[in-house]
Amino acid sequence: MRAEVAIVGAGFTGLSAALRLAGGGASVIVLDTHAPGFGASGRNGGQIIPGIKIDPDGIDRVYGEATTDFAGKTADTTLALIEAHDIDCDAHRDGWIQGSVKKAHLAQIERRAEQWRKRGANVALLSREEVRARTGSAIFEGGWFDGRAGRLHPLNYATGLAEAARTAGADIRVGAAATQLARQGRDWRIDLANGASVTAGQGIVATNGYSGPLFPELRASLVPAGSFQVATAPLPEVLLSRILPGRSVVSDTRRVGNYFRIGPENRLMMGARGTFTDTPADTAFARVTGDLHATFPETRDLPIAYRWTGRVAMTADHLPHVHQPLPGLVMAAGYNGRGVALSSALGTAIGAHLLDAARPLPFRFTDIRPLPVHALHPVYATLAIWYYRLRDALES
Ligand SMILES: Cc1cc2nc3c(=O)[nH]c(=O)nc-3n(C[C@H](O)[C@H](O)[C@H](O)COP(=O)(O)OP(=O)(O)OC[C@H]3O[C@@H](n4cnc5c(N)ncnc54)[C@H](O)[C@@H]3O)c2cc1C
Repeated sequence: MRAEVAIVGAGFTGLSAALRLAGGGASVIVLDTHAPGFGASGRNGGQIIPGIKIDPDGIDRVYGEATTDFAGKTADTTLALIEAHDIDCDAHRDGWIQGSVKKAHLAQIERRAEQWRKRGANVALLSREEVRARTGSAIFEGGWFDGRAGRLHPLNYATGLAEAARTAGADIRVGAAATQLARQGRDWRIDLANGASVTAGQGIVATNGYSGPLFPELRASLVPAGSFQVATAPLPEVLLSRILPGRSVVSDTRRVGNYFRIGPENRLMMGARGTFTDTPADTAFARVTGDLHATFPETRDLPIAYRWTGRVAMTADHLPHVHQPLPGLVMAAGYNGRGVALSSALGTAIGAHLLDAARPLPFRFTDIRPLPVHALHPVYATLAIWYYRLRDALES
């Protein structure tokens, strides 16, 4: 098999790149061991949140204003992509509330909202009473509202992106586990576990938190953190009018906080960072369920109907990483739990860049930096989580 561009990974990053490339006339093949959306893209909380983990003034300092502008528009880009390709994924722009259960975090929230407001974003600072009214929860001390944000059904979005990319001409292969990536003359050659191989002039590795031995340095540069979610039985009308009446999505400012929203079939979904193994841990689910009941005591009697987990790719500097280890090979990973909008916009930008190198990428290429003793990451990352929980607990 031969294509101009081969992409490993059919999540939002790989699929949005494929869509842009195929739409621009390139021949594209997407390879994934599993169906599109098998990774984080089909398992996430569906919160379309713009920005990255650092605030806009910080993005200006690290990357420059063009990147801040890009980061501020990632939700717009995602929603525009959905609209342009008529993707049926229950997408709505109802905003994001970042609430704080800690008075100590309110000053930071104020700065964050102000920095985005100064850049023209539709944001507002919320008082304690306003956050409580908008969330339906009494745990919050204050917060801010980001009107650029929204929500979607993640697996339906991934499936829809794949369909749109196919319609544009991309060849998407399922059951295509890439086992080796090597130079062959001026091309890249990707060998698959099923014995087939693909050659392409350019390659994109979009395996993110599911990166394996294909490119060991990439895997070793990321910490795949388990994020655990639960979804209740459908909320009765009386709770639907009290909990998140505006249907915004919510997360909180703690270092190890929760995120929640009302999801498909009016189920209340809540997630949190858990352990560093793929084995579903009862204790992690019990912790999220406990958080759900502490946030909304009136849901205690509602059964938990679903629970699931996925891998969030974390980086040591909390920044997304874009690499070009060799000419014609691009990798993007490490969205630190803020990847729904970012992966869609960054994948699109990578696709545009490969079509025309004059179109700049929003993040400069960095060297891949494997973490020391990466094999021990479940141990040190667990210790880090406990340390962050302790720091959260010590704040008022
Ligand atoms: C539980 C959970 C909740 C989250 N909630 C949110 C949220 O609400 N908002 C938000 O902004 N972000 C959230 N995130 C993060 C967001 O989902 C991710 O950042 C984003 O989906 C990453 O997309 P991706 O395409 O880069 O990677 P992925 O979707 O993980 O895709 C990687 C793909 O690579 C494939 N792959 C790996 N190795 C190979 C190989 N050798 N050969 C072939 N295929 C391979 C995998 O099968 C997988 O399909 C959440 C993540 C999780 C896990």
